[in-house]
Amino acid sequence: MDASEVLQFWQEQIAEAVKAAGRPPGSVRLVPASKTVPPKRLQEFVRAGLRIFGENRIQEAKAKIPLLPASCEWHFIGGLQSNKVRDAVAFFECIHSVDSAGLLEEIEKRAAALGKNQKVLVEVNVAGESNKHGCPPEQAAGLVRLGNGLPHVTVCGLMTVAPFFEDPAQVRPYFHRLAALRDSLEGELGVRLPELSMGMTHDWKVAVEEGSTMIRIGTGLFGMRTP
Ligand SMILES: *Cc1c(COP(=O)(O)O)cnc(C)c1O
Repeated sequence: MDASEVLQFWQEQIAEAVKAAGRPPGSVRLVPASKTVPPKRLQEFVRAGLRIFGENRIQEAKAKIPLLPASCEWHFIGGLQSNKVRDAVAFFECIHSVDSAGLLEEIEKRAAALGKNQKVLVEVNVAGESNKHGCPPEQAAGLVRLGNGLPHVTVCGLMTVAPFFEDPAQVRPYFHRLAALRDSLEGELGVRLPELSMGMTHDWKVAVEEGSTMIRIGTGLFGMRTP
């Protein structure tokens, strides 16, 4: 299938799932996870109408971004080290993977230097998996409060990479937990956290049912990744 067929298929699937979940049209954004996908292939998707991409590695993204139209919007979805924050702030519209006070402070410093307001999501490790990034749920309030107190940072919501289950229905409690955490933080802190970045190729429909606003789709759009 060519890029426009693939994209049309996904747009229809998403619109259908959003409707079935009783949510307003357009309330779920597709954030294509474009790691390892060559710029030429991404260009085909841009021609087909995509303009948002989510990258995992700063070095890879820095090489690809200049090869695609400046109208593209880049999201950073991978693990972030503080020595990469300067580039992350320079290149990305939204950083989905902020999970420590140190990262927030570094983002503030770099965003201030660029005169930019950096949108971020706080990544939460909802299942407490030791091999995953993300803060424990009980630290999320502190990070949201800290981030929203920084003049060059806006915390737009929460993100999670949920555990993998053969049967995607089993992941529902984790997505539910992230949405509930967001609701309780909004009440407790009196802030708005409209974005929930959750759901991937395997489990995005469940994520949409549980309130996701950004689904990060890699394999489903671009095919299997060859390492
Ligand atoms: C690769 C990746 C995805 C997409 O995964 P697929 O299963 O290929 O859809 C989503 N989120 C993150 C953080 C990723 O690294």
